[in-house]
Formats: sequence, C-alpha cells, structure tokens
Amino acid sequence: MGRRVVIVGGVAGGMSAATRLRRLDEDASIVVLERSGHVSYANCGLPYFVGGVIEDEDDLLLQTPQRLFERFRLDVRVGTEVVAIDPSEHTVTVRPSAGGAETALPYDALVLSPGAAPVRPPLPGFDRVQVLRTVEDAEQLAGAAHASPRGAVVIGAGFVGLETAENLAHRGIATSVVEMADQVLTPLDPEMAVLVAAELVRNGVEVITGSAVTEITDDGVVLTNGRQLAGDLVVAAIGVRPDVRLAEMAGLALGPWGGIAVDPVGRTSAPDIYAVGDAVEKADSVGGGPSLIALANIANRQGRRVADSICGLPVRPVLSQGTAILKVFGVTAALTGWNESRLRASGRGYRVIHSHPTSHASYYPGAQPLALKLLFDPADGAILGAQAVGRGGVDKRIDVLATAMEAGLRADALADLELAYAPPFSSAKDPVNMLGYMAENVMSGECDVAEPDEVAELVVHGWTVLDVRTEAEHDSGAIPGSVNVPLDSLREQLPTMGTGPFLVYCQVGQRGHTATMLLHDLGMVARNLDGGYTTWEAAEAAVAQEPQRLVGALAEP
Ligand SMILES: Cc1cc2nc3c(=O)[nH]c(=O)nc-3n(C[C@H](O)[C@H](O)[C@H](O)COP(=O)(O)OP(=O)(O)OC[C@H]3O[C@@H](n4cnc5c(N)ncnc54)[C@H](O)[C@@H]3O)c2cc1C
Repeated sequence: MGRRVVIVGGVAGGMSAATRLRRLDEDASIVVLERSGHVSYANCGLPYFVGGVIEDEDDLLLQTPQRLFERFRLDVRVGTEVVAIDPSEHTVTVRPSAGGAETALPYDALVLSPGAAPVRPPLPGFDRVQVLRTVEDAEQLAGAAHASPRGAVVIGAGFVGLETAENLAHRGIATSVVEMADQVLTPLDPEMAVLVAAELVRNGVEVITGSAVTEITDDGVVLTNGRQLAGDLVVAAIGVRPDVRLAEMAGLALGPWGGIAVDPVGRTSAPDIYAVGDAVEKADSVGGGPSLIALANIANRQGRRVADSICGLPVRPVLSQGTAILKVFGVTAALTGWNESRLRASGRGYRVIHSHPTSHASYYPGAQPLALKLLFDPADGAILGAQAVGRGGVDKRIDVLATAMEAGLRADALADLELAYAPPFSSAKDPVNMLGYMAENVMSGECDVAEPDEVAELVVHGWTVLDVRTEAEHDSGAIPGSVNVPLDSLREQLPTMGTGPFLVYCQVGQRGHTATMLLHDLGMVARNLDGGYTTWEAAEAAVAQEPQRLVGALAEP
C-alpha cells in the first residue's frame, strides 16, 4: 500500500496539497477532511456573492468531492470534522460535523490547513453580528441583504470589510464602515489609504475612522464617542485568528504571533505533521522573522511545497511579502512588502518616493490617475515595499514591483526594466521606470527630497516654501505661506527670491525636481517635496481624517 496522507481542511492550502500530491504519487491514499459542506470554494469571491455581482452560488464552488474523486482519486469527506490528533500514534480522530460517532484514521503524513477564524470580540449584542468566512456565512449575509435592511454597519475597514461594504452599497443599502484605527486599510500608509476612503465617500458609504464599536443594539451600533449608528445589518470584519485549536491540543509548537510554527518547508514540531495557510506563521521576506499573513496565494504555494516535501522533492522555502490587492468601487489599491509605519517602528533605514503618473500615455483616451509609493533601503537599494492606488494600471505596477522585490532587484534598477509599451497600455517611461529614475536620483544624492511631514519643521527653521506651478494652479490650492514662482520664470525671478534654503514643490514632484536641480546648480540649498502638492494634500487629509476633501483627487480625467 502507498503512503497514507490525511489533509485537514479542503480549501486553498489543503486542496493544493492534495492535488499536487496526487500528481506526484499515484499510489498514495489521500483523504481530505472538511468540516463545512463544501470543498475548494472561492472564499475570495464571497463578498461578490453577497453583492449580487456573482449571481449563482454554484460559481463559487470550484470543485465537488465527486469531481475530485474522478480526476484525482481523492477521498474527500465534507461535513467531517477532525477533533483530535495523536502524533505518537499517527492518527486523527474524526466525527461528522452534525454530530455522531468518532472514528480514528491513521496517517503516514498529516497536512493541517484549517485556516483562520474571524475575531469575535466580547461586545454586548455581538451574537447578532454576521461574519463572512464560509459559503454558509455568505448565504446568510446575502439573505439578510435581500431582506431590504434599513441600513448596514460594517465593523472593520480591512480588505474583507471594505469589499463587504462595497457590495452592500452595491445592493443599494445605506452602509457605514467603522474603523478603530485612524485610517482605513492599515496595510497601506495613511496618505495612500485616504484615497481609498475618499472613493468610499464618493460612492455614498459613510467612513468613520478613529472610533470603535462598544455595543451592538437591536437596530444598530454604539460607538466609543457615544454616537449611535443605525443598521439592521451588522457585519464584523475585524481580522482573523489562526485556527490552532487542533494543533494546540496535539502539543504542536506555536510561534510568537500565535500561529502554528513551521520550518521553511512546512514541517511542524511533530514528526510527519505539516501545516500551511492562514493557520501558520510564515517567514517574512523583508524582516526574515515570522509573520502572520492570511492570503490565498501564500496558502496555495505552501500547499504545493508541502506536497513536494512529503514526496521527497527539494523544496524552495516559501517567503511571504504580503502582496495584496483590493477593488473599492472604481478604485484599486494594492501593496507588497512593508509599509512606512512598519519600517519606522522596526528602526530600519528607508527612503520614500511618491509619484502620480497616469495609467497609460496621457494623450491616449482613457488614461487614469495613479498614486504610487516606493520604499527602499538607501544603503543597498533593496526594495522594501510598494503601494499603489488608482483607477487603472494598479495591478500590473504592483505585480512588477512585487516581482522585482522577490528577485532582489535594487530600487534604481527599476529604471532599466524593459516593460511593454504602446500608448493604450503605458508610457515609454513606464511609471515603474520612473520610480527607478527617482530612486537613482535619491541614491546618488543628486536630488534631496523632503516628505510632507517635514514641511512644518522646515518652515520653522526658516526655509522658504517655493511653489513652482503656474499661478492658476497656485490659486486653486497651495501650501499655506508658500511663494509662487512658476518654473518657466524661475531664472528671471532669481534675483528677487533671496538665497533660501528652499523647499520646492509642484503638483506631483516633476517640475519641482527640475527647479531643485537648477537651484542646486546655482549653489543654493534646495529640497524637492516628494510627490508634490498632491501627496501633501493627501497627507493633510489623512491626518485630519477627512477623506471627503479628496473625492475629486482620483476622479476620472
Ligand atoms: C471573504 C474573504 C475574502 C478573501 N479575499 C481574498 C483575496 O481577495 N485575496 C487573497 O489572497 N485572500 C483572500 N482571502 C483569504 C484567503 O481566502 C485565505 O488566505 C485562504 O483561503 C487560506 O487558505 P487556508 O487553506 O489556510 O484556509 P481556508 O481556505 O479557510 O480553508 C480552511 C478549511 O479548513 C476547514 N477546517 C478547519 N478546521 C477543521 C477541522 N478541524 N476539521 C475539518 N475541517 C476543518 C474549514 O472549514 C475551512 O473550509 C479572503 C478570505 C475571505 C474570508
């Protein structure tokens, strides 16, 4: 008889492991145990089923036990829960989810992919709150959304919370999002996330940040500031915790963040037990240490690697960058690696670049605004993270940057990437190339840049804030106290401008760079404001928690 492999959890990580195992080993007996009623379902599609964008529930069910048997000879048992593991006997105890007799199942290799469970805080009234994790949750939420609720409150403005809010609003339900942090989408930095909040506001979703829910009442929620928000429907998406119940009971080691501890190829502390997916701690590609990242791509990759490992193939360790993407109405937000807040907290040296290109050549119809942020180590050029928010071209830029990061490219090497170009798709200098040019300028010391949060301090130290945009641009909104000398008249006006030092800015940083270089050449001290007025304005709106100021910022041109 071939090796007996038992897999706990039949969705992303578990099913990837199962099918890869079969391809590698036709003789293995492979049993997949899944406590819910479905396997291989598209949990990432659940919010869109709630919103009616995906109309047919069957579209979420990518496989059935029958089909998996026919193609892969997998023994898939839904409605079957694993309630205990005995690592010394190499058995798991199994029971029907609906209740019934327990039986023991032996294994030669055991793969745990039990996922994560939504956080359920002990708030008064929380039992009437809905969560979104399984097909059953989505059915329940879609049913409640159909029943014409007078309003919905989504607690938590992370990825799942915002997707849920968008989809409830899509159904015509008055929706509010409440977030305890001072911004939505904390994996992004505030000046990027505020653009996402602005898109929510633009589409009629109320965004409340810096406030927590303290109680769920019969017809809404109560916030920390005492405000009551109406909502028949209350959904919580305040994060997930790795489901480690079985692992803990079996005495497997956990990591510092409470996930199952695994080695680089997915082995737990017990012989022949592997673990993958949301339940485990992953090696972080930036810091190297363990981290908890719950993403489908990582679970799938880990599932494949664990199957390789069980079959004795050489395995490349799976590192995680946390590359993620989100659609919020017409805007896409995406990131990879660490954000600035995390780098600052870690004490690691970094530099920042903001840019505001268009998704493709601005002269070709349909070009969309795009905000990009790159974080890199000025000492060795290592790319530490990137963020993008915009109406078009976000996905390919973040994927190129994630690939560059994984490949270990230096930030300035982005300048030399030969990326596909024709006007409907990009620019001859793609926005990613432009980030490379800017990184080159910073790394070579050719141009000194300042960040928006440095402006106030520079002013205190006597710097002149110089706006080199046109008079019309200056009049439509400028940094308070700034002097307007348009770039094209800078040379003529130099004698009247004093000797500086100058903090130069334009709309997005490009004219500011030219002006700063000119001033340098003339022997003056000057710094260019990174990302120009556009980034400064976003940073100010983020600090004030007033995304409504930016509803036009990413408007279609
Ligand atoms: C609404 C939603 C949207 C998402 N959107 C995205 C997205 O757009 N992009 C992205 O990258 N990620 C997304 N994710 C996250 C992604 O779905 C997870 O990272 C991924 O599914 C994790 O895979 P996993 O195998 O670890 O766990 P899961 O896919 O959750 O599978 C775990 C399975 O194990 C079963 N199980 C647990 N314990 C037992 C037991 N004792 N016995 C038997 N069965 C058990 C559970 O029932 C569950 O079906 C989303 C998640 C949700 C909930």
